[in-house]
Amino acid sequence: MEASSVSDGRAQPGVTLLVVRPHPDDESSATGGLLAYYHARDVRTGVVICTGGEEGDSGMPGTPANQHRDAFVQADPSEAAGRLVRIMRVLRPRVIVTELPGGGYAHPDHIRCHQVSLEAFHAAGDARAYPEAGPAWPAAKLYAIAQIDDGQWETLRPAFQAAGFDVGGRQRSRKRARGAGPETATVALDVRPYSEIQRQALLSHRTQMPPESFWRRLPAELYRRAFATAYLIRLHPPAAPGEYEKDLFDGLHSSTQWCSRNG
Ligand SMILES: [Zn+2]
Repeated sequence: MEASSVSDGRAQPGVTLLVVRPHPDDESSATGGLLAYYHARDVRTGVVICTGGEEGDSGMPGTPANQHRDAFVQADPSEAAGRLVRIMRVLRPRVIVTELPGGGYAHPDHIRCHQVSLEAFHAAGDARAYPEAGPAWPAAKLYAIAQIDDGQWETLRPAFQAAGFDVGGRQRSRKRARGAGPETATVALDVRPYSEIQRQALLSHRTQMPPESFWRRLPAELYRRAFATAYLIRLHPPAAPGEYEKDLFDGLHSSTQWCSRNG
């Protein structure tokens, strides 16, 4: 987690939406459309990547890279949270987006990213916590990227097969890992207009996207249709069962309560 760029808080204009992800390429793969969506609406956005993506990254559970002393999973959790608290207090976001509890999938960096983000979200607004990290800043909302099975992959299966992709195994594994339907998400954003921006951002991570990779071979139109919607679940304040918001900033725009509470 690189905090040096925000060490001088006075020079920072701040952001309204802050996305916290574990690896370079994660910001594009699941949140690229979301970031472009809000950028197009004049919302100042920021991204924290918890690792550099180089050798210090850990791997999937049980792999030797997790023992590397520079691996994110080996970092002291309170030190990592403190560094993120500093970033939150300098950038002063209203809304923060991070991983699901459990990481969404088993990669230890994704699991740790959620844990650190949750700790930092609550600590940033508590003046007694990490006092060395600057004046308290309570962000209003915390969301997690939701993994939703909205049936789109199944609908597109013939198109994938016509384009030469064997999506059978992929489809089965996705269904087994997900299962939750769109009704479990708090927010669903149509990110199709930003699909090409997202796709190009993802493909710019050349070490992660070799020429033979699924993502590089996937035609732009199929990509647009397969990743049409960005789903999010509100973690704080906790979403009520069945609660639905049209936007991450529902209840925050021109809210006098919010302005008085957060100055
Ligand atoms: Zn990742």
